[in-house]
Amino acid sequence: MPRFSSANLLFWAVSLAAGLPLPAAQAAGLRVATFSADVTPPVGQPLVSGDLLKRVEDPLLAKGIVIEDGPARYVLCAVDWCELCNSSHALFRRKIAEAAGTCVSRVAVAALHQHTAPVADGDAEKLLTAAPKPPAVLGAKTVEALADRLAAAVRRSTACLEPFDQVGVGEAKVDRVASSRRVKGAHGKIRVRWSTCKEADLRAMPEGLIDPLLKTVTLARSGKPLVRLHYYATHPQTPYGDGRASADVPGWARQRRERKEGVFQVYFDGCGGDITLGKYNDGTPSAREGLARRLEAGMQAAAAATRFAPAAHVGWRVVPVAFAPRNDPGYTEADGRARLLNPAADYGTRTYRGAMVVAFRHREGVPFELTALAIGPARILHLPGEAFIDFQLYAQRVAPRAFVAVAAYGDCATGYICTQKAFAEGGYEPTDSMVAPQSESVLRSAIRKLLADER
Ligand SMILES: [Zn+2]
Repeated sequence: MPRFSSANLLFWAVSLAAGLPLPAAQAAGLRVATFSADVTPPVGQPLVSGDLLKRVEDPLLAKGIVIEDGPARYVLCAVDWCELCNSSHALFRRKIAEAAGTCVSRVAVAALHQHTAPVADGDAEKLLTAAPKPPAVLGAKTVEALADRLAAAVRRSTACLEPFDQVGVGEAKVDRVASSRRVKGAHGKIRVRWSTCKEADLRAMPEGLIDPLLKTVTLARSGKPLVRLHYYATHPQTPYGDGRASADVPGWARQRRERKEGVFQVYFDGCGGDITLGKYNDGTPSAREGLARRLEAGMQAAAAATRFAPAAHVGWRVVPVAFAPRNDPGYTEADGRARLLNPAADYGTRTYRGAMVVAFRHREGVPFELTALAIGPARILHLPGEAFIDFQLYAQRVAPRAFVAVAAYGDCATGYICTQKAFAEGGYEPTDSMVAPQSESVLRSAIRKLLADER
């Protein structure tokens, strides 16, 4: 159950960046604004698999909220892109911060990780562009123009800040959407249940370790919802790689809910690193429609289960984290560089196993900023990378009496953030992770710091 005590609120207020509690007169003035921008790249730009965008099935949106508490503003933003990494993630944060009139540390930006969408990593793109016979990369000018469009929407929203006085929290079990990608086969060998799974025997295996609950945080004024923020953990993609841009299952569910309820809706992807739709997605259009319908039903049920509490303050905590790069064979800088420079290698090898490996190693000294928002009974964590579901469940265990909602897929330069056990077991994710196995304890320690007052 959520815990809501004055001692907690004081602690969170004190952890504002300035390190000072808000004066009581200002603390009463909570306001919120919503923004939405179309951030679909132009036709011809590459999507995650290197396929060039040919057709916009439905637009990719960047949606979020600006929360104002006295003199301080905070921004939460969820983008219908596969990933934002390194300097591209920093660019989005900086432009949003400038537009909202706040500092970068008070801006959380996360991707939803659809695969009918682009990956932006300005550093990897620079390396690729300088390599022989480079593959198509998302142009720096394109990314900047889309970030500017988003910033303009954020700026406009600040003229429409409206008061709120309640925070609602609700959760509901989602029916047949998420399932573990890591299925134990014969002799404990890990089999991969991809997001689109054509193998009936793999689809028949149990869901495995997931977080079955979708969590919804509602900001309201006198019982009237102004915005709903939804949190659920899974890779969200159905078939991709055919030049189509789409917000896919989570975007469909979110926009339908918004149209039906008439309340602004934002969806954040939780720690879905080792979770897919595979058990329930054979790749057919009817499977896709069923997934969107059931995810939307989860949003509706969580909203219906909402219980409101008064909101008077916002707490915000920032924990900078450094993740060590891997040094095992195949993952050194020399290995990454060799792949990046090889014109005969395929798009994924050059980009994800090559340029991004090198780019991650070059960011040494630039920490990942993990943040937590405390408002009413809700504690919302913003984590980087493709974190395993274990981390989301761990955050809930760390603060068992709080309502802990988790957004992952912040700066995705880490690739997968696996558990140490997963490296020993094998499977797909550890082959696609940029960070060393000890990252599990690094991330757990950061989560404990983000929730320090709740333990
Ligand atoms: Zn992924």
